[in-house]
Amino acid sequence: MTRDQGVAVVGSGPNGLAAAVTMARAGLAVTVFESAGTIGGGTRTMEIVQPGVLHDVCSAIHPMALATGFFRAFQLERRVRFAVPDASYANPLDGRPAAMAYRDLDRTAAELGRDGDAYRNLYRPLLRSLDGVTDVALGGSMLRVPRDVVAAATLAARVLEQGSALWDVRFRDSAAPALLAGVAAHSIGPMPRLSTAAVGLVLGALGHAGGWPVPIGGSRVISDALEADLRAHGGRIETSREIEDVRELAGYRTIFFDTSARGLARIARRALPTAYRRRLLNLRYGNGATKVDFVLDGPAPWRDPRVAEAPTVHVGGDRSEIARAERDVARGRHPERPYVLLAQTARFDPSRNPAGTEAIWSYTHVPRGSDVDVSEAVLAQLERFAPGFRERIVAMRVTTAEELSQYNANYHGGDFSAGAVTLRQLLARPTLSADPWRTPVPGVYLCSSSTPPGPGVHGLAGWYAARSALRHDYGITSVDLSADASSSLP
Ligand SMILES: Cc1cc2nc3c(=O)[nH]c(=O)nc-3n(C[C@H](O)[C@H](O)[C@H](O)COP(=O)(O)OP(=O)(O)OC[C@H]3O[C@@H](n4cnc5c(N)ncnc54)[C@H](O)[C@@H]3O)c2cc1C
Repeated sequence: MTRDQGVAVVGSGPNGLAAAVTMARAGLAVTVFESAGTIGGGTRTMEIVQPGVLHDVCSAIHPMALATGFFRAFQLERRVRFAVPDASYANPLDGRPAAMAYRDLDRTAAELGRDGDAYRNLYRPLLRSLDGVTDVALGGSMLRVPRDVVAAATLAARVLEQGSALWDVRFRDSAAPALLAGVAAHSIGPMPRLSTAAVGLVLGALGHAGGWPVPIGGSRVISDALEADLRAHGGRIETSREIEDVRELAGYRTIFFDTSARGLARIARRALPTAYRRRLLNLRYGNGATKVDFVLDGPAPWRDPRVAEAPTVHVGGDRSEIARAERDVARGRHPERPYVLLAQTARFDPSRNPAGTEAIWSYTHVPRGSDVDVSEAVLAQLERFAPGFRERIVAMRVTTAEELSQYNANYHGGDFSAGAVTLRQLLARPTLSADPWRTPVPGVYLCSSSTPPGPGVHGLAGWYAARSALRHDYGITSVDLSADASSSLP
């Protein structure tokens, strides 16, 4: 096989690997180039705090691992073992029981007291047409006509409500709004806002449907499964190989960039038309994240013990307080009482730490490029809802937004979305196009989360880019990605 027939993929994040697997499954010779020493991009799991204890370096929470198109086609659930807890996420609250989001919507509503019906009515119609809802949000370019118009209208009505000043109109208490704010804040940005509401409602619906699964072994098992499939179909991976100029890839028929839009603009600067390159450079980056990872000598001492049932905890108080923290970040300030996204996934996967220890993963939002150690503010929030947390700490590690951007070239200033998630940038990511993965240079595709559907471990951007390439460059319209006996779990 010569380079002329081959496919190059720059970057081995979940999107790069999804593109690589799809092309290899179509019978093409694929080589992946990864600048880091190990594959996986945002799905690495390593001993970063203490030897013998595994922490997810970036992603830890996987609402999209079982429910979205690419991983369904790839049959990830047959290749990777998942624990799917009954509770998806929790929001501890001051002086009252935590708000809990269970897979069971009725159970969730029952614990929300007088707002239970209002909460159920918000989500029930989304759950009834979940495939249509995920198609609208994650199905590809926003310029498409939605497959399920009723689902699109149902989601749009709820996004308009929860993304505007009307967001409290149906609620009388603070627990249900806190649940909604906690999940909406996954998308870094001020609220209420249409983009944060859309992200929150879709992630929340997934939490009330199949749940938020925990991969046994950490996020890396997802990229391991992709790597195994790629190699089984003849693909190659070169790690510690940074591509600095597209001319290094001369001769490859198709090239995928799992880089940020800005990364593509730099690497292919001589090949790209000026107007397109300017659009890549115009993709606005969002604020960043600072990670604070812990090893505790036992479980987090939540004041409300039910919080221990959830793999993900949104720590930040009620909706107004979470909104205040996010507004501060949007204004370039480090909040005094930040929103902290915490994963206690090791509770559901004891293989990650020796008995008597517990790995805790957390991050908080900070202004882009921040190099401030915000761990004191994070700890104060954790102490507030888990008194005694501090005394349980055996080891701790802070990774600032600035350090994250050095860790992965896609995360400019610590923005791990590779471009802010705003309504405008959901529509034009990085360009307003029915096929935003395809660049004006024949055979060159952008496949990272700088393209739809944006950030998250779903592999969808890579899959969509590969399908576009197969259609346009090879006349191939379908590829079987399903697991065979050798790649399936016993
Ligand atoms: C702290 C943190 C927490 C997160 N939490 C979650 C979460 O809980 N759930 C979730 O779904 N998502 C989470 N994310 C986001 C998620 O990790 C990303 O959205 C996802 O990994 C994006 O996938 P990707 O393939 O587009 O890019 P990445 O995963 O970023 O991979 C890009 C790869 O390309 C490589 N690369 C870049 N430039 C070059 C080059 N020139 N040459 C060679 N290689 C190159 C990089 O080294 C990297 O390995 C988190 C991210 C961070 C940082």
